Amino acid sequence: MDHIYVAPCGEIGLGLFAARPLPKGTHILTFSGRLIEADDPIHRTDEAGKLVQIDDLLYLYPDQPCVFANHSCSPNAGIRETTRMVAIQDIGKDEQICFDYSTTMDEDDWTLVCACGQDNCREIIKDFKYLPAKVRQRYLDLGVVQPFIVRKSSSFAQT
Ligand SMILES: [Zn+2]
Repeated sequence: MDHIYVAPCGEIGLGLFAARPLPKGTHILTFSGRLIEADDPIHRTDEAGKLVQIDDLLYLYPDQPCVFANHSCSPNAGIRETTRMVAIQDIGKDEQICFDYSTTMDEDDWTLVCACGQDNCREIIKDFKYLPAKVRQRYLDLGVVQPFIVRKSSSFAQT
């Protein structure tokens, strides 16, 4: 994978970066990893922050380098068809590649403190269903919401 690289970023550890310009629509990588059930003790550890939810009771503990894809409230990438990370806008060389973790989460009580520094930073990141309707619709239109969440999306509040 010579189109991406892993490097330190801010205070949060490592991040995934573009080694060359990645035009909108580029398939960046496919998440692979170990399947984790909802009742696995890992959910009560710091490692839980690395899990990507892929179904109501199923998670993926991503292999490297996927595990270094950080959250942003103004992401330049998203996940399609459960595991395919694609550029949702043109990504410049050496730009960090991020996706919105809310697009994969539906746990009711999940939260993550965000310090992405974007103007629209939500500060406390929660499940997809708690995003403003306009933001949800944008991600749905981009096709970067996990299918198990899309199936339920018509029942989410319209505000
Ligand atoms: Zn943020």
